Amino acid sequence: MAIVVRHACLLDLDRRSVQAGELSIRGATIAAAGPRVEVADGDEVLDACGAVVMPGLVNGHTHLYSALATGMPPPAGAPHGLHEILDAVWWRLDRALDLPLCEISALIGGLEALHCGTTTVIDHHASPAAIDGSLDTIEAGLRIAGLRGILGYETTDRNGPDDCRAGLAENERYLRHCLARQNGWFAAMVGVHAAFTLSDASLAAVADLAARHQVGVHIHVAEDPCDDAICRQCYGAGVVDRLTRAGVFDLPSLLAHGTHLTRSDWDRLTDSAITLAHNPRSNMNNAVGYTPLGHVRRPVVLGTDGIGSDMLAELATAWYKSRDGGAGLSPDALVDMLAESARLAGRLLGVRLGTLVPGAAADLVVTDYVPTTPLDADNLAGHLIFGLGARHTRSVMVGGQWRLRDRSWTGGDESELRRRATTEARRLWDLMQAEPRP
Ligand SMILES: [Zn+2]
Repeated sequence: MAIVVRHACLLDLDRRSVQAGELSIRGATIAAAGPRVEVADGDEVLDACGAVVMPGLVNGHTHLYSALATGMPPPAGAPHGLHEILDAVWWRLDRALDLPLCEISALIGGLEALHCGTTTVIDHHASPAAIDGSLDTIEAGLRIAGLRGILGYETTDRNGPDDCRAGLAENERYLRHCLARQNGWFAAMVGVHAAFTLSDASLAAVADLAARHQVGVHIHVAEDPCDDAICRQCYGAGVVDRLTRAGVFDLPSLLAHGTHLTRSDWDRLTDSAITLAHNPRSNMNNAVGYTPLGHVRRPVVLGTDGIGSDMLAELATAWYKSRDGGAGLSPDALVDMLAESARLAGRLLGVRLGTLVPGAAADLVVTDYVPTTPLDADNLAGHLIFGLGARHTRSVMVGGQWRLRDRSWTGGDESELRRRATTEARRLWDLMQAEPRP
């Protein structure tokens, strides 16, 4: 039995194409796509009524642990700069996380992602009080929500050498687990917080772990000037030199932000194997500045850095900020970041994402966006930036299974889950309040 989506406006991000047509889904993949597909007796048929149907979106860099942070009490005082914000907010939050909080954060973060048409997340996790098994716990939450994930633990020395060893061990354990099963749903990268919180020996250890398993390192790089400044002050070399020496750029690593990498840094990185994750809303929220995307000669993916998983909101902000910052990027270049996020995740998971061709994963977003102006391959970017939004997400399929049907989660009682999450969020905030002030 197949699932057939009829009367759709098929929008393919990878091929940047738009066509009126139909899809047939068998099992976990798209079996046929075209102006008409066969419908057999017993097939489930969904009429898209002329609305856009597109591949599931991919969040190229996020922190699911921030899912319960919405509306939490502000930090005491007014932190200045990223380092103080991390100290006063995010490092207090991650220290308070236990495994149940990790799981509900991933579940709620995954659910919110589904409602925005996001079906895969590349996550960067930290929970210093509950490191061992935390990536399995994040996976469990995402699995209940119904998403795919690429996970890594933020290895760091900031909580001492034992925590660093535990972070490395968690990355290695989960990495081996993913490589052994290769199920197309979950994969691993070696997570690293940022160079300024790791010694040279620790950086070498994470790069060695990634190289041994032929995966990349997922790390924050030059998000704020403090990364380079602390590297120079404490380790006698700048962030790019340190990561170069460790071998991070020889790997297919994912660098989040790169906000303060210079033109000459990017010239050095042109022949590297890295991908940049651009997170414009987070950069604006932390007032760290605008990433010089015009200098980047490597693939760029789009991420939210923990501000939900609304990739179309992130795309629109990326566009406005590129205009405001005078980056001189085309709308198509920004949309390609969405496509690149899917390509990267697809490579890591071993499935084809971001496209609607036969053989691709059946990760679909059925919207209620029926264009009111002409829509074709030439102006697709204009519709994605100025027209289509998360509010248009109607039904979402991941791996051939409906996870949202007519805006309702198919995995259980969403209202009850939200009530449970609110109780857990209160518990998390209380734990944070009980933390000693820095
Ligand atoms: Zn981040």
